Amino acid sequence: MLKDAKRIVVKVGTSTLTYGTGKTNVRRMRRLAEVLSDLQNSGMQIALVTSGAIGIGAVKLGLKERPHDTPGRQAAATVGQCELMFMYDKLFGEYGHIVGQLLITRSDIDNGERRENLINSFEKLFEYGAIPIINENDSVAVEEIVYGDNDNLSAHVARLIKADALIILSDIDGLFSANPCEDENAVLIPVVENIDDEIISAAGPSGSSLGTGGMATKITAAKLATQSGIDTVVMNGANPEDIYRLLEGRQTGTLFKAAKRGE
Ligand code: GLU
Repeated sequence: MLKDAKRIVVKVGTSTLTYGTGKTNVRRMRRLAEVLSDLQNSGMQIALVTSGAIGIGAVKLGLKERPHDTPGRQAAATVGQCELMFMYDKLFGEYGHIVGQLLITRSDIDNGERRENLINSFEKLFEYGAIPIINENDSVAVEEIVYGDNDNLSAHVARLIKADALIILSDIDGLFSANPCEDENAVLIPVVENIDDEIISAAGPSGSSLGTGGMATKITAAKLATQSGIDTVVMNGANPEDIYRLLEGRQTGTLFKAAKRGE
């Protein structure tokens, strides 16, 4: 399905970018940067939506856990975002690529004029051959911290730039028929044609201590993207090279099929 995809949004979550200690998983970040750089070299256009600012910032500040108060999360994000971009700039730079940071708030997407400006910025970056790296602007956008999550942000970005596909890298292999941590009979659902109530209930509520998402927000994101004609895949980000498998057309994770235009 994704074999012909040219413009791709990849979303990576905090649990994929960090170890249980909360510190960055340097090896995985490097492998991700290598794969995405390679895909960009092959002629694809990649945009990376990254989480991790709050989680990585909290650890760097020596906090015992992700802050629960908004100013605490904002402050942690300012620190973590620097660390993230430092890493991405360094790693993508090693593979000869230039990255650009876009910190987005919900109002940038909702407001017509700002949305247009944002689209122009993305398109110029692609024209220049740079890789846009996107996160929520957590340090100023209070409502985004409280309500927002990067799964949905990635779907909005995919719509904005008319991506062919959205790949959400998670710490789970995809969508299961039930929670695999609780039900040993849970099986991976390889393809979802239609996100109905059964799929929504299979996702259940979840989420790790450092990120905010869980499967529920991935389903909402998949719904948004597929309704706009964008194939969406939720797959495990532990081995970033698996993205090659996916793009070669081999079964990887859960594919949420794009709705045909007009459906
Ligand atoms: N924007 C948040 C961060 O970078 C993460 C949001 C999410 O976990 O989805 O820390």
